[in-house]
Amino acid sequence: MDFKLTEEQNMLKDMCRNFAQNEIMPNADAWNKTGEFPTAIFKKMAELDLMGVLIPEEYGGSNAGTVAFVAAMEEISKGDQSVAVTWNAHLTIGSVAFLYFGTEEQKKKFLVPLAKGEALGAFGLTEANAGSDARGIKTKAVLDGNEWVINGTKCFITNVGTPLSYGVIILATTGEDQKGNKKFSAFVVPKDAKGFTIGKRYEKIGWHAVDTRELIFEDCRIPKGNLLGKEGEGLKQFLEVLDVGRISIAAISVGLAQKAFELALYHSQERVQFGKPICKNQAIQFKLADMATRIEISRLITYKAAWLRDNNLPYALEAAMAKTYASETAVRVAEEALQIHGGYGYTEEYLISRLYRDSKVLTIGEGTNEIQRMVIAKLIGC
Ligand SMILES: Cc1cc2nc3c(=O)[nH]c(=O)nc-3n(C[C@H](O)[C@H](O)[C@H](O)COP(=O)(O)OP(=O)(O)OC[C@H]3O[C@@H](n4cnc5c(N)ncnc54)[C@H](O)[C@@H]3O)c2cc1C
Repeated sequence: MDFKLTEEQNMLKDMCRNFAQNEIMPNADAWNKTGEFPTAIFKKMAELDLMGVLIPEEYGGSNAGTVAFVAAMEEISKGDQSVAVTWNAHLTIGSVAFLYFGTEEQKKKFLVPLAKGEALGAFGLTEANAGSDARGIKTKAVLDGNEWVINGTKCFITNVGTPLSYGVIILATTGEDQKGNKKFSAFVVPKDAKGFTIGKRYEKIGWHAVDTRELIFEDCRIPKGNLLGKEGEGLKQFLEVLDVGRISIAAISVGLAQKAFELALYHSQERVQFGKPICKNQAIQFKLADMATRIEISRLITYKAAWLRDNNLPYALEAAMAKTYASETAVRVAEEALQIHGGYGYTEEYLISRLYRDSKVLTIGEGTNEIQRMVIAKLIGC
């Protein structure tokens, strides 16, 4: 087996590392303190052809492949979680749905501007009473002549209220099939659609510069042609797109864990107690050894899921495993890294405190880890 990245993959990774160091890290603390959405950063990422790395050239992307993307994502994630998560929602769940299920016309109208970074992608599934249980959604769409009329609300939706947002892809019910089962369908709702209100931003414990909001649809009218994919297949489509998102969340988790580990290693070498650096204590060394081991395992399963996708092989199982293992690694490593920082780690002055807050949601978003374990159990034949 060859674990080396190709020259092109390394070039993308290096570019993202430099970009994170020079453009993201110096400003990340300020964005996270004020909650300001870093619009200018995404404009610069568009100039670097980063907003369509999973999209073919014919639709405005750079088609770098999933392995290159996870390598790049690790670097962006080390720069800042809010930037990484916004990029993730745009690239995976917000853009790939158009690639998989859009008509040629929809790809030209919606996917091309997304891939060029002229617009930011978003994906709305979750509702107040339907998170893990996606079948429980209540948002309804009814065809009225040449328009769909949508009523309902979505919660916790990322990327819809920024200056770069164009709107959102949502899942709604569209009646019942002959057996009386709910039919689910996906729709593209532009932000200026009549009857569409973008609610206020949530105050979160982490991911402070990520735009996450409630969405309200009151007799919201969109053209008939904004149905994405086939009527009745929306849930299946959403679940397929989420598989790509899970690889991406795994890569974000690897980046966060790696950054937390590096901070902890440095601090343990610098901090002197009892006349020697704290890293000379076996108790600290074992923590660091476990952190490094878990990070490497997380990275390997994430790369494997990405490689399977790039080679058109089934990857849903590995994507769920990678998301679960890597996100739990991120939480554990951030906690241990903060412990190694002692009281300093509990202050805003030290970056590890932000990583600690940002890590937790990685086990919740894009399907909780309990749901991932249900997916894994099903796929291994339970
Ligand atoms: C910052 C942020 C950004 C988000 N962005 C988006 C977005 O862009 N688009 C979008 O659609 N959603 C988004 N979400 C929503 C996210 O996907 C949901 O929060 C997540 O799927 C869980 O749903 P829930 O919060 O309703 O929890 P619930 O489904 O109510 O789950 C609560 C707990 O019960 C557990 N649980 C539920 N069912 C079972 C079961 N059968 N067996 C065992 N345990 C179970 C869960 O694992 C969890 O621990 C975002 C959430 C956050 C916090």
